[in-house]
Formats: sequence, structure tokens, C-alpha cells
Amino acid sequence: MSDLKVNLTAPNGRKITLPTGLYINGEFVKATGGQTITSINPTDESEIATVQAASVEDVDKAVAAARAAFNGSEWRDLTNTDRGGLMYKLADLIEAEKETLATLETWDNGKPYQVSLNEDLAEVTGTLRYYAGWADKIHGSTIPTTGAKFAYTLKQPIGVCAQIIPWNYPLAMAAWKLGPALAAGCCVVLKPAEQTPLSILYFAQLIEKAGFPKGVINVVNGYGKEAGHALASHLDVDKIAFTGSTVTGKQIMRTAAVNMKNITLETGGKSPLLVFDDADFEQAAKWAHIGIMSNQGQICTATSRVLVQESIYDKFVEEFKKIVASTSIVGDPFKDDTFQGPQVTKAQYERVLGFVESGKSEGATLAHGGVPYTKVGEGKGYFIEPTVFTDVKSSMTIFREEVFGPFVVLVSFKDEAEAIKLANDTTYGLGSAVFSQNIERAHRVASKIEAGMVWINSSQDSDFRVPFGGVKNSGIGRELGEAGLHSYLQEKAVHVNMGTKL
Ligand code: ADP
Repeated sequence: MSDLKVNLTAPNGRKITLPTGLYINGEFVKATGGQTITSINPTDESEIATVQAASVEDVDKAVAAARAAFNGSEWRDLTNTDRGGLMYKLADLIEAEKETLATLETWDNGKPYQVSLNEDLAEVTGTLRYYAGWADKIHGSTIPTTGAKFAYTLKQPIGVCAQIIPWNYPLAMAAWKLGPALAAGCCVVLKPAEQTPLSILYFAQLIEKAGFPKGVINVVNGYGKEAGHALASHLDVDKIAFTGSTVTGKQIMRTAAVNMKNITLETGGKSPLLVFDDADFEQAAKWAHIGIMSNQGQICTATSRVLVQESIYDKFVEEFKKIVASTSIVGDPFKDDTFQGPQVTKAQYERVLGFVESGKSEGATLAHGGVPYTKVGEGKGYFIEPTVFTDVKSSMTIFREEVFGPFVVLVSFKDEAEAIKLANDTTYGLGSAVFSQNIERAHRVASKIEAGMVWINSSQDSDFRVPFGGVKNSGIGRELGEAGLHSYLQEKAVHVNMGTKL
């Protein structure tokens, strides 16, 4: 075995040979600075594998490879239909290896295997195929102007794009970013989060197999403060697409100003879910549970503030607690009946427990959970009991700050006006949900909520055909759908004089 590959046996028995290098210019290479990342299994705190971590010099090399590919004829001269063809091929290769990719994702991240396999991997292939279909449907327009003149526009790829992704959906976030970038004709340096470096490395092998020219997609694992910052500050990077925390998003925005990079930021949230007394009560309670407790609550759009009309509040609290107790089965993520695995890292686990203390000290009522879950393994792993707080006031920290865990606050409101006021009483604006059987109310409230997305009688719907993104401190720009494609294109206006003489 070379020192840039490792043979692994996953907890589900799957044997995997994983490359561990940086994927630059079509090759797995060693990091020049000698830095590494050791990935920890959040289920039992054991070490899974050690992979290379990029230095500033490695980032320079990856950007240079992407630039050379962008300027090179192999990529430029490819017809847009053939570009789409490569993307379809990549999606097929991923589908063929989905069990291995899902195994790595679950092992590294802690999310239930069934979710990795049936939801995340389906999202990856669906997104790549959706954007593959767009590749040969990109065109500008013709604009009549004055006299013997007209103008037309060309939609051209932005260029070299750095894509910085988080740890909660590593493969899906990679697909959300690579899909539109490749369809647009951009070249990419992708940086996974240091907490979850593994699945993207396996994926990187498939890039070459699919037949992409060298340098079109580069993957550099690395630390945010070094490799991430090097990308955000790089003078030869034309765009940064980032998903992660609001603090880091703002930092990247400041750094990216160095050469006025185009930016797309998808950051934090504290999304409200409103339940009116005319809602389908049972459905509302079930969706509210899914909306916050799935993916260990590690979802930027998680509906973490559930606002319930006063007249049904007590009944809702009881029903919600019942659903949590019966559905939020905490356990080994490789077991089929597990709903909730461990939090991704010790830091996240401690962060969630810190918010439990904050809620208690500020006078909210801990109605469920709020403690480590110790019935898996031998007390190891970052497991937390799903946590529900009631009697929460809008001034409390747990109402205002993003927890990013299986942690929900239930708050009551009197009427529609107060519901909207509470919903918008946040610096964030990502997701939101409205439960009401009254269609006029549902649409009226949807239009008044300050958020990039509203679910009516649902939660967490996300579809690669539909734009995704936030307002306020939740981000800038949109991913997915046609809007996501256009964020990787720039429009050039060409003015044509057909004979106007001076
Ligand atoms: P979290 O706090 O949940 O770990 P972050 O927003 O810090 O989330 O991380 C999301 C991604 O941003 C990761 O890939 C991380 O390495 C990267 N990152 C962190 N800090 C920086 C930075 N200063 N510049 C660029 N990227 C960064």
C-alpha cells in the first residue's frame, strides 16, 4: 500500500481502499507542509484514517491547476453537450459506488446509514444529473436597441471557483456546488471540512474515471484557517461558494474583497415553524419533529423555533414529547432503526450541552432530554438525548442563537400578528414553515416571513430544481435550480453596430 492510500474495514464490514492525498491536477499528492487531518469516528471516538491537509502552497498549486484547465483547450473546446455527458457519467459512477460512499459518510459524520444511502446519495446523483441537463441549455439573449444597432449577451463561466463546504452533508454539499459550476464551464477547487474529509476523497477518484480533464476539479482537504483562508484570499480565484457558519461566512466575505470575488454564502439559521390552531394538529407535530431532529439537528434550515398558538400549546407540547420519545431513536448509525446518531464532533456535542445549561439558567423549562445519551457503546461517542425546551421567551439565548443539534424551543403566540413578529425576531432568515388549513392565512403568512424559503404544511423540503438560500445573516445568493446555475455565469453584453455611420 502506498503511503497515499489506506485499507479500511468499516463498522458495517465494508472493505474500502481510500486515497488519502490532496487531489490536484488529476493526481493524489502529498501535502507540502506535512500537515494531516485525522478523522475521528463520532460513534466511538476511534481514529478512522489520517489524510493530507493542504498548506498555502498546495492551495496555490490547486488554483494553478484549475486555472490551467480553465484556459486549456481540453475543457474549453468540449461541446456543452459533452460537458453534460461527463457529468452524467460521474453521476453513474457515484450511483454504482453509493454503498461505499454512504458507508464513509456515516462512519465519518455519524449520520444514519439509511439517510446517507437513500437520501444524501440520491441528492448527489439527482443534483449532478439535473445540472448535466442544463449544460447545453445556457444562452444569452438578443436585445434590439436603437437604429441600426442591437446587442446580444453571452453567458460565460465565471472562471476558477473555490468551493468551501461544511461537515453536515459533505457529499450533498459538494454536489450542490460542483453541479452548477461544471455545467457553467467553471473549474473548481473544492475544500471539504476538516471534520469530515473522507467521502470526498473516495469521490475524487471517480472524477478521473468519468473522464474530466486534469485540473477541472481539484479536492484539497485542509483546515479552514489555513487552506480555507488561502482560497478566500487567493488573487486567482474568481468566485467563492461557501456553506458553513455565519461567523466564517462574514470572514470569507471580508477576505474575498481582496479581488472583489463573486460570492455565494449559505450560512446559519434559526428557522421558525408556526403552528396555528387551524392546522392539521398531528401532521404539524410530526413535521415539527422531522424539521428539527433529523440529521442530529445539524441542518442549517432546521426549524429550531416551534411557535404554537396559545389555544393548542399545551396539547402540542404533550404530542411533541410523545413523538420525540417514540421516533427519535438514538443509536449506532449503522443500525437500520436508528433515527439519530452522534453529533459530529466533541466540540459540537459540548456546544449543544452548553446551550442546555444556558436554557436552564435563563429560566426555560427542560421538557425532554438535555443530557448525554449513554446507552450506545460503552459510554463513548457524542450522543445526546433529543432536547425540548418549553416556556421559552424571545429574549433567551436559546431562542436567539443557532444550536445546530437535536434541540428545539417551543414558544406560544396569541395571534397571527404575534406569530409573524416572533418568527421575524431573529438576525437569521433561512427556512421557515407555516401550518394552517386556511389557505389564505398560509400564503399571507408565507409572504410576510423574512426567510429565503417557506414550507407550507411541511418542513425541510429541498429539491435540486428549486432555489435554496437565505436572507439577513443566513447568506447571499442562491444555490440549486436555475438561480444556482446563474451564480456561476457572468453576462457579457456585446453591442453591434449594423451600419450607423458617424
Ligand atoms: P463550523 O463552525 O460548523 O465548523 P465553519 O463555518 O467554521 O463551520 O466551517 C465551514 C467550512 O469553512 C469548513 O470547510 C472550514 O474548514 C471552512 N473555514 C473555516 N474557517 C475559514 C476561514 N477563515 N476561511 C475560509 N474557510 C474557512
